[in-house]
Formats: sequence, C-alpha cells, structure tokens
Amino acid sequence: MPVRPVFRFAPSPNGPLHLGHAYSALLNADMARAAEGRLLLRLEDIDVTRCRPDFETAIYEDLAWLGLDWEQPVRRQSEFFGDFTRALQLLDDDALIYRSYPTRGEIRAFVETREAAGETWPRDPDGAPLFPGDAAILPEAEIARRLREDAPYALRLDMAGALARVGRDLAWNETGVGPDGDAGTVAARPELWGDVVLARKDVATSYHLSVVVDDALQGITHVVRGRDLFAATSVHRVLQALLDLPAPVYHHHRLILDADGGKLSKSAGAASLASLRADGATPGDIRRMVGL
Ligand code: GLU
Repeated sequence: MPVRPVFRFAPSPNGPLHLGHAYSALLNADMARAAEGRLLLRLEDIDVTRCRPDFETAIYEDLAWLGLDWEQPVRRQSEFFGDFTRALQLLDDDALIYRSYPTRGEIRAFVETREAAGETWPRDPDGAPLFPGDAAILPEAEIARRLREDAPYALRLDMAGALARVGRDLAWNETGVGPDGDAGTVAARPELWGDVVLARKDVATSYHLSVVVDDALQGITHVVRGRDLFAATSVHRVLQALLDLPAPVYHHHRLILDADGGKLSKSAGAASLASLRADGATPGDIRRMVGL
C-alpha cells in the first residue's frame, strides 16, 4: 500500500494564534486533504519558561473553530526530551558538538568591539552575528575555569566538521517559492549559519534539533511552514544527514504581513484569532483575510 503523505502544523504555545498561524494551519489542512494525506498537530513547547497551558488550550479552540481536524495524540515536545538527548548523544559520539562557554552578552560585546573598529562581522540569515569561536572571545584560562566549574554552556554543532562528514552538496525539494526564486531543488547553504546552538546546559534541545528529530519520528513527509524558516532548512538538512533521517518535501509559504508590511508577531501585538472571532469574524472571513 502506498504510504499516505503526512503533514503537520507545529505552533509554539507561547502566545495567542494570529492570522499568520491561521494561514499556515489552513494551508497544511488544504494540502493534506488534496494529497489524501494525514494532518498532525505538534506543540513546540521546549521553551518551558514561555509556553503556557492556557495558550495550548486556546490553540485547540482556535483550530477547531477554523474547522480543522487533527490526529490524536498531539505530540508535545516537552514530553520527549529523551529523544533529543539521544540525538545529541549520536552527534557527540561523532565528536560533532562541543561545549561553548561565551554567554550571549559576551558574544555581542565581542562583535560590537570588532564592528566599532571598522570590521564587518558576518551575520547568519536571521541577522545574528556568526559565532566567532570560544577562543576568540575568552582567554584560555577562563575557558578552563568554566569547564572545571561546570559553568553554563551551549552545545554547538561543529559545522565545518559536520560538512566534512556529510559533504557540501546537500539540497532539498522545495514546492513553495523561496526568497531567491522558484520551487525545485534548492542547494543547502549551512555554512551561512556557522556553529549553531543545538542545546544548552539547562535546555536539552533547540528548535533546529527538535524539529528535525520530531519530523522524522512522526514520519512527516511534507513540511509546510512560513518563508521565514526557508534559510533554516539548510541547518535541518545537515542534521538529517548526520542523524541518518529522511528529508521531507518542504513548502515555504508566503507570510501574512501587517498593514505596514511587517511580519505578524505575537510580541508586536498582532490581532489574535480569538479577538477577531470575538469581533464577529467567521472562519470564512479568516480564509478570505489570508487569501485562501
Ligand atoms: N514552531 C515554529 C513556529 O511556531 C514552527 C516550526 C516549523 O514549522 O518548523 O514558528
């Protein structure tokens, strides 16, 4: 029997859903239906300090109101830290991750000093400075001291080592339209990200690691998500290759923008689906508002 396509909508319960989420969820549902596939819901709640049960309840309410249906049980990432730890262990066995001690503030200060001196420090596709390496930021004795005292650290991927392992010709199959052009085979550019953080001393995973592990564990064949995650797919392809996980087909969709052309975001106070509903909007209105 042919395997049915498996789609997923993977919100983080750290705020109310807005029109951007509605578009992503509805598009996933429409594409799953057209492909006679399955639709899963996954809660990306690894940041336990920001995720809340009431936001989770609101996600179920909003999605049901939109007319969506998803399979049970819902995978809540915070219940599966063991799966992420196992993946990290595999990378550690291959000596592809390392403990990195500079804090975010120390990294920022280092880069600011260089830029104040007229250097242009390279940035990753999200605009964050590329990690300069522990030794560039901290004296050797300080690194040794933090190691000895088991100070907080990040676990970073040794990207150069990873690429030496998996080769540089990674690609993915894109059915959406990326910022650089058309659908088709997209060459991955993981080197643009440098040594990404995969976990921290007190948080046993990161977005990059958990999304890759869970998409594989849940048998996801089609990842449909916002174009803001297009560039991150390069990191995901490297992790899939290192962990010997299958690559889904990717479809990065347009973003729903606010009146000023900015990305809708929870923090910028974008109108929530709940408030649109309270103001009398119907699910059909929401579809129209997002252009479906
Ligand atoms: N949890 C992510 C978000 O809410 C989506 C991740 C993904 O679809 O890969 O933006």
